[in-house]
Amino acid sequence: MTQRAVDPWAVARESMVADQIVSRGVKDPATLDAMRSVPRHLFVPEGEWVRAYDDGPLAIGRGQTISQPYIVALMTELARLDPTSRVLEIGTGCGYQTAVLAACAGAVWTIEIEPELAARAARTLAALDVSNVNRRVGDGSLGWPEAAPFDAILVTAAPADVPPALLDQLAVHGRLVIPLGTSHQDLWVYTREPDGIRRESIIPVRFVLLR
Ligand code: SAH
Repeated sequence: MTQRAVDPWAVARESMVADQIVSRGVKDPATLDAMRSVPRHLFVPEGEWVRAYDDGPLAIGRGQTISQPYIVALMTELARLDPTSRVLEIGTGCGYQTAVLAACAGAVWTIEIEPELAARAARTLAALDVSNVNRRVGDGSLGWPEAAPFDAILVTAAPADVPPALLDQLAVHGRLVIPLGTSHQDLWVYTREPDGIRRESIIPVRFVLLR
């Protein structure tokens, strides 16, 4: 009889989705599928694998963190992606949110300011055969003008105010999902409507600061 290879972490991911994500109201099927399938532990240092599916952020080196699973799922759902979406991500970090976006969208452009983190994320994404990601090392607050406009922009480090270049690079009906603030932060969604920008605050959050 042949033995099928079973991912021993799949059970942990199922519980993570049920207990931390569905239970808090995330419903988008593509987001939930991505959270069930992307191997989150491979994006954190091996010593942290046992904590990879816990309900909180984790250290990824260089003083940075991988966001809590619920926040990754919430931001992905708020972006309202479909398989044709073009998405810009600011703050690649370990690349986990990048992989979740890549599973839900057509293509992802991601920018990280720390070369060492960017290189590690690139290796992890390549090992997982994630091929619809374009990456760059640099200051994400300038966006990626050559690839604009984007259907969604996700920012995973918090500025005090919205970087103007990011709003400029948002397509009509496009959505910018961004934490704003320094000591107190809220997660915001900015939507470009044909007649202007609409914005909505979602929940209090805690992100590292955008540099
Ligand atoms: N989405 C990431 C979260 C990483 S934390 C993950 O899942 O791992 C935020 C990241 O933003 C850090 O890696 C930090 O180095 C990066 N960052 C901070 N300021 C930046 C800037 N101006 N441009 C691009 N990346 C930035």
